[in-house]
Formats: sequence, C-alpha cells, structure tokens
Amino acid sequence: MNERRVLVVEDERTIAESVAARLRAEGFAVDIAGDGPSAVDRFRAGRYDIVVLDVMLPGFDGLEVCRRIQAQRPVPVLMLTARDDETDLLVGLAVGADDYLTKPFSMRELSARVHVLLRRVERAASSGPPALRLGEIEINQAERRVRRAGAEVHLTPTEFDLLVHLARRPRTVLPRERLLAEVWGWAEGSGTRTVDSHVKALRRKLGADLIRTVHGVGYALEVPA
Ligand code: CA
Repeated sequence: MNERRVLVVEDERTIAESVAARLRAEGFAVDIAGDGPSAVDRFRAGRYDIVVLDVMLPGFDGLEVCRRIQAQRPVPVLMLTARDDETDLLVGLAVGADDYLTKPFSMRELSARVHVLLRRVERAASSGPPALRLGEIEINQAERRVRRAGAEVHLTPTEFDLLVHLARRPRTVLPRERLLAEVWGWAEGSGTRTVDSHVKALRRKLGADLIRTVHGVGYALEVPA
C-alpha cells in the first residue's frame, strides 16, 4: 500500500508536533499547516488522504478551511474542537467534517479515529459503484462527481441523481412520471415540471444534446459517438 498522507492544521505548535510525531511513527507522511490560508494552499499542492483540522486558527478558521478544501476535492476531515458544546454546534451546522475530537485528547485516541475514518472511506471507495462514461462526460458514482472534458462540473444532488438514472439506461425513453417516482420518490405525477427544470439545468451544464426530449412522454439520454 502507498504511504498515506495526512495534513495536520493546528496553530498550537506543541499539539501539532505531537500529532505529527504519533502519526509518523505509525507510517503516515505528515505535513503541518499553522493557519487557514496556508492549510488551503498546502491541500491544493499535496495529495492528502485525510486532514486533521483545528477549529480555532489564525487567518480564517477551521470551518472555512473545511469548506474550501472540500470544494477542491472530497477528503475525510477529523475536526479538533475546544469543547463538547462546540462539537455539538458544528455537527448542527453540517460543516462537512466526518468526525470530531474534543481537546484535550490522547494521541492513542487521535490515532484510532484517523484509522477508523480512513478504513471507512477506503471501504466505501472499494465497494462503490463503477464510473460511467458518456463521450466526454465522466460520472464518478462513488465520489458523486462529474467531469466534462476533464473539467469538473458542479451538480446539485438531485441533478446528479437524475443524470445517473438516465445514464444507467442510455437511449431508453424514461417517462417523466417514472423519473419523478424513482429519482424524487414521488408517487403521483403532479410534479413533472420539476423533472423538466432539472433536465434543463443538466443540458445547460453538460451540453444541449445530451438529453433528448420525447414529446408527451419523457426523456432519453443520448450517448455521444
Ligand atoms: Ca488553535
């Protein structure tokens, strides 16, 4: 297995060094960033498998770091918080961290959490559904990411689910009522305009020719040659 890389973001030098020392002793490659902006820069430059992220940081805080790095690439984040009630607050805010550890913590506990997170992510990746390719469009189902000619396209969760639904049955005409039921989980067909508006968004983002309208019936995904 390749050496796994950890980015430790923490301005308190003694904590950062202890965390790094422990993880290095376990075979991880570890880098340290001491403030928000340098954390985001480092993350962009390195291929990290996991980020250990303190909340209180100079520059901008851990929440902002989390938001910016997750926008670059999904990565497991273990957030370090000052108090239990801070953890509760962050969980409520859905900041995009995968786990939380309240200070003070033992290095043994930190290490255990890192391993659990990595195992969870690696298991999800290995058992995930395969990537779908439609001409220049690539759909990574495990990561829920879409690229067009190599460039990332940002889809809403519903747009993504609709695209995957159509892409699994290329050239098959899917009635709008059926799409509503299967993608949205709506039993009755009174919201078919919702389907239309999402198809419109997908065409705008991925190309007008990708989805064919079958008037009075529904939609079919066309596979480019
Ligand atoms: Ca701090």
